[in-house]
Amino acid sequence: MVENHSHLSEAMIRPLILALLLLLPLASITAAELNLYSARHYDTDFSLYEHFTEETGIKVNLIEGGSDALIERILAEGELSPADILITVDAGRLWRAAEAGIFQPIDSVTLSARVPEYLRDPNNLWFGLSKRARIIVYRKGEGLRVPARYEDLTDSDYRNRVCMRSSSNIYNLSLLAGMIETAGAPAAQQWAEGVVQNFARKPQGNDTAQLRAVASGECGLTVANTYYLGRLMASEDPSDRAVAAKLGIVFPDQDGRGTHINISGAGVTRYAPNRAAAIQFVEYLTSEFAQRLFAEGNNEYPVVGRATGPIAELGDFKEDQVNAATYGKRQAQAVMIYDRAGWR
Ligand code: FE
Repeated sequence: MVENHSHLSEAMIRPLILALLLLLPLASITAAELNLYSARHYDTDFSLYEHFTEETGIKVNLIEGGSDALIERILAEGELSPADILITVDAGRLWRAAEAGIFQPIDSVTLSARVPEYLRDPNNLWFGLSKRARIIVYRKGEGLRVPARYEDLTDSDYRNRVCMRSSSNIYNLSLLAGMIETAGAPAAQQWAEGVVQNFARKPQGNDTAQLRAVASGECGLTVANTYYLGRLMASEDPSDRAVAAKLGIVFPDQDGRGTHINISGAGVTRYAPNRAAAIQFVEYLTSEFAQRLFAEGNNEYPVVGRATGPIAELGDFKEDQVNAATYGKRQAQAVMIYDRAGWR
């Protein structure tokens, strides 16, 4: 009995060992890692990475930093860069990274199907993963006529009432770049000059600072990305929610080209050591599950599916569907126009 048993086991074990030996090289491939350079720092992003590892066995090594610092780092590392993916915000920055040559084109049926054409690079160098709208925000009860278009911010009704972030800020560069594309450079120049004429103060602070200044009455109007408002609306601090409650919003240009949209996005790096895993990861980020977490982490709109969280309360709107790569292509022109207009 015992002999028979051991004989049987051996017969069973031998092919098993053989099979294991054959599978070993495969196993070492699937037990891959992935080096993700990200300019986003949200808790929900970490849960996403963990979920991806659970599903695929691919470990995600996260390197965090500022957008420009990460781009510089990948350039400095050159061919030896361990970076597989760069995630950053604003198409203007993704374009800069693409211009610097750090991405490679990715032909993915999944990405082409899920990410709308206007939210990805025409050569598939980067893909939008979440959206933010640049909206007009005004102080409720101020008695000001509510503007309907970005162009309205130049009206004399708003003299000394408009607060803006500096013109070197990428969000304002992208906004003007989009305007140059759709309305032409002369109209964009006129707009910049008209807004400068209506300034309540010298450009200063980030989008949150503009929202607070409007709520306090220092300014009557501003433009800001939707997620800054979403943050105030969802804040645990009642004073933040009180700021949000004082603000009215407009999705500009609903009867025209639509509201200016920008993205958070990702590209696979040119020398990615783990290219296949990198593509798999970017595709995963467009899945319904990942989309929801990725967008909600920063109160943004998903590129697939509907808005959730506080910004869902802002309602639906028409988006300007100019290709996001335009914001990069027209960036240098936007810098010149702001400069000539005296918007610092
Ligand atoms: Fe921001």
